[in-house]
Amino acid sequence: GDIANRIGRSARGLTGAVGETFGEPTLRLGVTGLSRAGKTVFITSLVANLMDRGRMSQLAAAAEGRIDAAYLQPQPDDTLPRFDYEKHLAALTADAPHWPESTRAVSELRLSMRIRPTGLLAGFQGARRLHLDIVDYPGEWLLDLGLLEKSFEDWSRDTLARAERREIAGDFLSRLKAEDSSQELEEARAQALSESFTAYLRAASEAGYSDCSPGRFLLPGDLAGSPVLTFAPLPPGDGTAGRKSLRREFERRYEAYKDRVVKPFFRDHFSRIDRQIVLVDALGAIHRGPGAVEDLRHTMSDVLSAFRPGRNAFLSQILMGKRVERILFAATKADHLHHRQHPHLSAFMQALTREAADRAHFAGARTDAMAIAALRATVEETRSHRGEDLDCVRGTLTSGKSAAFYPGELPQDPQRLLGPARDGSEHWLDADYGLMTFAPAKLSLRPGEGPPHIRLDRAAQFLFGDRL
Ligand code: GDP
Repeated sequence: GDIANRIGRSARGLTGAVGETFGEPTLRLGVTGLSRAGKTVFITSLVANLMDRGRMSQLAAAAEGRIDAAYLQPQPDDTLPRFDYEKHLAALTADAPHWPESTRAVSELRLSMRIRPTGLLAGFQGARRLHLDIVDYPGEWLLDLGLLEKSFEDWSRDTLARAERREIAGDFLSRLKAEDSSQELEEARAQALSESFTAYLRAASEAGYSDCSPGRFLLPGDLAGSPVLTFAPLPPGDGTAGRKSLRREFERRYEAYKDRVVKPFFRDHFSRIDRQIVLVDALGAIHRGPGAVEDLRHTMSDVLSAFRPGRNAFLSQILMGKRVERILFAATKADHLHHRQHPHLSAFMQALTREAADRAHFAGARTDAMAIAALRATVEETRSHRGEDLDCVRGTLTSGKSAAFYPGELPQDPQRLLGPARDGSEHWLDADYGLMTFAPAKLSLRPGEGPPHIRLDRAAQFLFGDRL
């Protein structure tokens, strides 16, 4: 049984490889998540651990000693920025370690591995190569997929309805009231309105709302200041707006945003992804309270629906039957919690993923959920406080001071985090949680040791372990 299984697996591995870049097996791994979710740190630590065959005991091929070599190579896409691995690693391993600059746009890195085969084929075959093409892109861009199905009127209605429920939208909404959109477009006024809308989106994103599309308004890349990013939602018109009106022009720019920004991204990048990890700052959302958790569950089903091509005509057309095979939802920064509480965080992510899959009527890729820390910045410490043992984590604050925190307890039953707030008083993470911005710990890596992490190797096993 076992041997047959292994032959089966190897054979599938081989057929899977045919037809990819001149017979060289290639796997494209997408890494996404909203701003500050931990994409840059994840990729940097993953690559460092793979190159040094560091702390990867839960990655089967590494544990079995079958990864002969792992090295960086020129990436296949000449026009994509390269993920600046060396610079990010240098930040984390400096004498005074600091967090690298976060993802602002799409980038790519090719990690090639030389792997010895397993099982019966091992005797017949030499080592083979697998190119892991890691593609980093903002989750905000992914959420733009929803715009493709919406007209300017629909989008305006939904966006304004959401804004009206949020206090931080006050400035933008009053500016909007002062505008008569049937008047002829004046560029300066258009810009001011659009800037005010962008400022609101930025505030919403900082307040922890994940639904802040259009994604490029927050992360414009090289489109900053261009007309495709200079529009805003408008209340319904009465149909009298003329050809040169603000309304008509905003409508046109919104359509241009979809055609010239959203579609090319999905066609050129998203459509080629084989495996995907979605990083989620779940602890941050839990800390901010039930509203943010509610927002997160919606976002996760939106993300999953992007991976369910049948629902979207444009996606079905560009994907032509190709599918993402595996999607991992990972709660990041688990080193903010004592390990005793990790199962609770994992259970929360699993419940959220299952629920998002139900909401998105998702049937497709294999999905999983777990809690990870790509770079562990804390050590655990149990302190007694008023006769009670508290499980704390200790780390270095950005001020340079060392401090121990007790972040609070997550409930064992994830439904209590997902359910509606009973009286608004249900706060699972301590007020102090917001202060826990640890600097990366100083690394003194011996040869063959990667940066310390929590379950990064398990994430790797789920994402591409079967292809090694
Ligand atoms: P990106 O915007 O998704 O690229 O996010 P980054 O990778 O830049 O991470 C954003 C911030 O989250 C970092 O600057 C760190 O403060 C924090 N962070 C990310 N990963 C970890 C982790 O594994 N442990 C801890 N303690 N903090 C992390």
